Amino acid sequence: MPFNKQGRCHCGQVTYEVYAEPLRMAQCHCDACRQITGVGHNVQAFFYIADVKIKGKTSSHQSIADSGNIRTRHFCSQCGSRLFSYNSAAPDIIGISAGSFDDSSWFKPQIILYNSKRKNWDIIDENIKTRNFM
Ligand SMILES: [Zn+2]
Ligand SMILES: [Zn+2]
Repeated sequence: MPFNKQGRCHCGQVTYEVYAEPLRMAQCHCDACRQITGVGHNVQAFFYIADVKIKGKTSSHQSIADSGNIRTRHFCSQCGSRLFSYNSAAPDIIGISAGSFDDSSWFKPQIILYNSKRKNWDIIDENIKTRNFM
């Protein structure tokens, strides 16, 4: 069965479709991910941009990561749902928020990043490998 998944923002103005399996799945507890999500961490699946089709209008915000790379995060310009992120170091890759997929039962983080920044109320699966940085 070819991997084909759809997702959307909360209001439905932005929808997307993915046509290939994720390259990587990660959970991140860095300050930026905590602040932009408003919860303990961000969870994203990464794909080649060429394998993703997006419809609708997003707004974006850029910031400099610890690595010095530019991170651009896109969210629905109507409801604010965070959907996509890009990293200047890997211009052909898109990160998609795992919770925005209509069906995310396939998602499982392979790694937990910035575990040293994790808040003690944010409990993790002890079986997943952790790293204290990106
Ligand atoms: Zn929306
Ligand atoms: Zn992060």
